[in-house]
Parts: sequence; C-alpha cells; structure tokens
Amino acid sequence: MYRTHTCGELRLPHKGQEVTLAGWVQRVRNLGGMTFIDLRDRYGITQLAVTEDSPEKVKETAGTLGREFVIQAAGTVIERSNKNTRIPTGEIEIAVNGLTVLNAADTPPFTVEDESDGGEELRARYRYLDLRRSPLQSALKLRHRMAQEVRAYLDFQRFLEIETPFLIKSTPEGARDFVVPSRMSPGEFYALPQSPQTFKQLLMVAGYDRYFQIVRCFRDEDLRADRQPEFTQIDCEMAFVEREDILQTFEGLAKHLFRSVLGVELAQAFPRMSYADAMRQYGCDKPDIRFDMRLHEITGNVKGKNFAVFDTAEYTGGICVTGAAGYTRKQLDELTEWVKRPQIGAKGLAYIRLAADGIKSSVDKFYTSGELQQIAAAFNARQDDLILILSGAKKKTQEALGSLRMEMANRLGLRKSNDFAPLWVYDFPLLEWDAETQRFYAMHHPFTSPKPEDLPKFYSPDKADIAQVNANAYDFVLNGTEIGGGSIRIHDAKVQQRMFEVLGFSKEEAEYKFGFIINAFRYGAPPHGGIAFGFDRWCALFGGQETIRDYIAFPKNNAGRDVMLDAPAKIDDVQLKELGIKN
Ligand code: ASP
Repeated sequence: MYRTHTCGELRLPHKGQEVTLAGWVQRVRNLGGMTFIDLRDRYGITQLAVTEDSPEKVKETAGTLGREFVIQAAGTVIERSNKNTRIPTGEIEIAVNGLTVLNAADTPPFTVEDESDGGEELRARYRYLDLRRSPLQSALKLRHRMAQEVRAYLDFQRFLEIETPFLIKSTPEGARDFVVPSRMSPGEFYALPQSPQTFKQLLMVAGYDRYFQIVRCFRDEDLRADRQPEFTQIDCEMAFVEREDILQTFEGLAKHLFRSVLGVELAQAFPRMSYADAMRQYGCDKPDIRFDMRLHEITGNVKGKNFAVFDTAEYTGGICVTGAAGYTRKQLDELTEWVKRPQIGAKGLAYIRLAADGIKSSVDKFYTSGELQQIAAAFNARQDDLILILSGAKKKTQEALGSLRMEMANRLGLRKSNDFAPLWVYDFPLLEWDAETQRFYAMHHPFTSPKPEDLPKFYSPDKADIAQVNANAYDFVLNGTEIGGGSIRIHDAKVQQRMFEVLGFSKEEAEYKFGFIINAFRYGAPPHGGIAFGFDRWCALFGGQETIRDYIAFPKNNAGRDVMLDAPAKIDDVQLKELGIKN
C-alpha cells in the first residue's frame, strides 16, 4: 500500500498513529540536525520531520531529496512544537522512520507554490507542473463541483444527458468553423460544432423533451482576451415550453449552483430587464447591476444654449459618480483621453462637479450655474458628486457611457467579486444589419423565433420593418458578464424558411445547409426553446477570477496555441496525401 492517508488529512486526534504518506516534495528545510520536508498532494501539505534520532537510512535519503521528488514516508504522527496556523495540518508532523524515493525529479523550471515565480508562458509549457499548484487545484475542484451539481439538478428535473456528434457539417453563421478533412471522402470536410444547436432541436422533434449536455464547442474566432477556441457549454433544450418556463427552470439551476457550490442563498427572483431598457439605463446589453450609476439622457435639457456640440447631437447623456467631485483636473484630463480611445470612440468628455464651494463645469461658458443645477437635478446628483457627460450618435454614445460607467466602477472598487447580481435580459433585436455585406445577420442564431406580435413586420418587404423585429431571446447575466443565452425557437418550417430568406440565403443555399432541419420541422416539431451557459466563464465567476484559463485543465494561449503540445503543428506529407490535400 502506497499510503494510509493523504497529505491533507492528519490532525491532532491522529497523534500517535503510524501512517504512510506519498506525494511530492514541495520544500526541504535543513536546519542543522533537523530536516523538515513539506510533502504535497492534491489534498494538502503535511510536514515530515527527520531528526537526529531518525534511522540512519532515513537521514541519508532525506539528504538526497530535491523539489518535486515523489516520495513515500512512513512514521508516527506527533504534535508540533511550532504550530502553523495557516494550514489545516499545521498542528502535527510526521516523525519519519521510513523514507523511499519513488521517483526523482529534475529541478522544476519554476517554483510549484501558491505564488509561483514562473511567467505565464513558462507555466503553460509545463502545465502539468502548474496544475500541481493549489490555486489551480482549487479551480479544477470548483469546476468539478459545478459539473456534478449541474447534473444533479437537471437530472432531478428529468433532463436527459445526451451526447451529440463532433464531426458535423460546416454551416458557418456567426463564427468560423474548424474543419476536419475526410480521408474516406477526399476533398470533403467535416466541421467541429460551434454548438449542438441543431442537434438539440432535432432531439426535441424526436420527443426527448428535456435535454442537456456539458459539451465542448469549437469556434475559429479571432481570439479576444480570454476566449478559447474550444470551450464548454451547459447546453439545454426543452419542448412544450414558453420563455417563462425556461427562465424559471434555469433560474432554479443558478440558485441551486449558488447554494450548493458557494453556500449563497438567493431568495429573491432574479431581476429582469428588456434589451431596450438595458441599453437606455446602462448602455450595455449585459449590465453589471451590483452598483447603480445609471445613464440619464439629457438631450433635451442641454439644447438651445448655443453649445453646438450638444445642440447638434442625436443624444446627450451622462452618469453621476457618487462622491467623486474631488476628481482633479489632471484626473479629468486623463478620463477624457480614456473616452477618446478608439475602443470607446467619444470625441470629448464634459463634466459637472458639485463641489462644496459651488458647481463647476467644463461647459460653464454656455450654462449658468442655475442651468447646471437643473441638469444635475436630472441625475438626482448631490453635493460631492461628479457628472460625466458624452454626446453623439445615440447607440454609440450610450455604449461609450456604458464603458465609462464600468471604468468608473472599477476605479472606485464597486465591482466586488464576492457580491453577485444575476439578471435576465430579454427581447433582443432579432437581426443586425451589416453595412459592409449589405445583409442581415441573426443576432443570436437563425433558429431564434421572432416575437409572435412582430410576425407581420417579419414578413414585411421593407427592411426598415424587418430591422425592428424583436427576438424571443434572453440572456443570463452575472456581474456584467453574459454567461448564458437562449431563445424560443422557430418550429414551423415556413417561418424557418422565411428566416433564411431574410438572411439573404437563396432557396438552394438554405436547402443545402439546413435542409435537414427544415425537413424535420415538417414531421411534427413541438414548440421548443432552450439556453446554453458558458461553463468555463461561470466557473471563473464563482471562483472570483477574471480569466477562464485557470478553470480549464489544458487551455490554449491568446494566439490559440497549445504551447505544451506545440499545436497546431504541421503534418507530414503521407498524412496530407492520405487526406487528398496534397498529391
Ligand atoms: N446554441 C446557442 C449558443 O451557443 C445557445 C442557445 O440558443 O441555446 O449561443
């Protein structure tokens, strides 16, 4: 037997017991006559003590140990004279009477400790060493717990976990597909699924009225920060449901996860907000509502005072930053530069400062102090507050204010990671017009149904009408991050065909790409809808981390590479020939 206990298990009540432990040497401290060894496994760290009185052989072996050696140690549990209150096993140590090196180790390229000295790239190359560190172990344990609790809840709700294929047909809509050449059908390709969307809908047609899967999805996108080319969804679909059924069921899932994984009881119903309200009040379709600082429109309030910028703007609005009137000129200049960055794209920033010695503003050439007071009143601003104002085209300016709102909250520390504010956002626009390609794109995906009351507009020949159609779609937002999205689907073959028509597909194209699902809808498709959650992101949020990479055992880097495997990589000519890619 390699071990009687783990390295995280022994406590004072074990005092006097003979035990055997196995694990990795985290650290060896040689204090003259005594050697202390920190022995680590995934359960914790236990101190081994080799003293003058230990057997000669043990002392000798102890002298040869290096970091990350795999060893087995037998001995007696004794009470420590010098207790370590920072670790659960800190009251005891093992007086070692047998020590075996199970495998020696080269010196690791970085320290395998909570705070490692290794850079990101180096740690990624030796991911298996990085994974020994306890922050990563906690992350993967959290992920495991989440997965188990998802299964427990959905199983209890009579969902069936059903696997869907990874080798499918390429139907890019949204992101680019990863493709896989077929050896048996030269010149033809499979694609890896961006999500199991069509399969889960076919399962509804097949009568499996509650489906879920914790499933890998693949998207060949230009990688923005913290995106992975392969990531995991909790993918779900239900038949004979309306939006309300879905929101209730998955609010239940979220509450179950909060309770069982974090011990957080969320008694209230989650707030709900329409997309239009989210844009109007927060300048964002996934608002962080842990703090207020809402947008206020003042387009009408500021016109007519000969300030050309406000007079000509489609939209003028701002946010009131509580208690920030002390912002200095320099800080405001810096904020102005911040909003002018291309990502934000504002032309300038106006402010009203409600300082103790009076109201001050960057636009006081145009507005009397009484007028400024009136503008401030629109924000319910009080003394010591700072109002930040942007103006320009409506949507763009709202979005810029939304970004500024988040930036101010970050600066003021209002986004606390142990505070959770879930939210449903619903009634998104169905379509987005793309000026470059001169066509509509589905905002969610082409299987999302229009709101029933918008069907007449959906069939209108006028693009302006079509652009106004709302989708029966919803997102689940947590702390300003969208972690779930779904919709009630189209289940009528004719409506689905119209959707492809609106998206600019010819009949033949629609038939070639999506014939299977249009056909399926002719054979008794029940009303259905679903949702998918970004599992990696949800884990990271529960872990209080910004990055999802720590919650994936073997992630890719920012350039989509696996630096440990050094993939992607070239393949040899024989393989290329076999695949019919090269002659
Ligand atoms: N398949 C969708 C997605 O990946 C989610 C859904 O509509 O259920 O975004």
